[in-house]
Amino acid sequence: DHTDNVRTHLFRLQRRFVVVLALDLGEEQRVNSMRRDFIANVSHELKTPIAAIGLLAEAVQQAAEDPEIVREFSNTLVKESRRLGSLSRDIIQLSEAQSALRPEDRERVKLRPLVRQEVDAHRALAEQRGVTLVITDALDTERDASLMGRPAALAAAVANLLSNAIRHSPEGERVGVGMAFEKKRFVVTVTDQGEGIAGENLARIFERFYRVDEARSRDAGGTGLGLSITRHTMRAHGGDVDVWSQPGVGSSFSLTFPLHDAAEDRRKRAKKKV
Ligand code: ADP
Repeated sequence: DHTDNVRTHLFRLQRRFVVVLALDLGEEQRVNSMRRDFIANVSHELKTPIAAIGLLAEAVQQAAEDPEIVREFSNTLVKESRRLGSLSRDIIQLSEAQSALRPEDRERVKLRPLVRQEVDAHRALAEQRGVTLVITDALDTERDASLMGRPAALAAAVANLLSNAIRHSPEGERVGVGMAFEKKRFVVTVTDQGEGIAGENLARIFERFYRVDEARSRDAGGTGLGLSITRHTMRAHGGDVDVWSQPGVGSSFSLTFPLHDAAEDRRKRAKKKV
């Protein structure tokens, strides 16, 4: 009947998506064009939820007299449209992160309060998952960790590591957030005791749309763009994101921020005058 038809269509749609993606990998090796790959990836990522939404909306329309089916399909409809929402949000964030910082984008960002604020914003998610967030702040509390940059992008970088760590942690575990000064840099480390990432995947997790477990990432609402956005944001600010991970032990991601040193600026200016 009609319901089965819709289910079959949805299944075919997912399968077609896998085939297209596989063909695309072959293409990727032949045509070494990042831009083309990216546009191809984006359109494939968009195709599935868009097609599913159309199909489901029609099915809901036609099954209006059957509340059971309406409920089932509209739940999937909501999930797919959320997916579309996070995809478009992440694509916009990625394109912003990839462009160089313009002088007018730069604001003074105080990193310590920014990290604390993001940790607080993730307490509800952590609680929901039975995970405890523990912060360790740098010892020299007087020292100012600030730089000139885009506060929203930097906050999103911290948020991405936190939500990944929480989502990959088993219930009852802790996620540690450390802040420390290393020479003229400020380092924020997010450590989990999750499943870890094997070496062959570790090299690829910063690539756009790369996920170790495709189905699991999708189910959790992931777009596979988070770490790529994070890396671009950090590099645009003169910093970087690094990872250490061991399967069965856990992962540790660190954000390194170059600090703006006012005293150093003054010394340089004084030197120039001499
Ligand atoms: P996603 O939207 O899938 O979370 P990301 O770019 O943030 O995309 O991460 C890419 C992949 O890296 C994830 O799909 C996951 O497989 C892996 N990953 C990221 N963070 C962790 C972590 N803390 N523990 C284990 N795997 C992780």
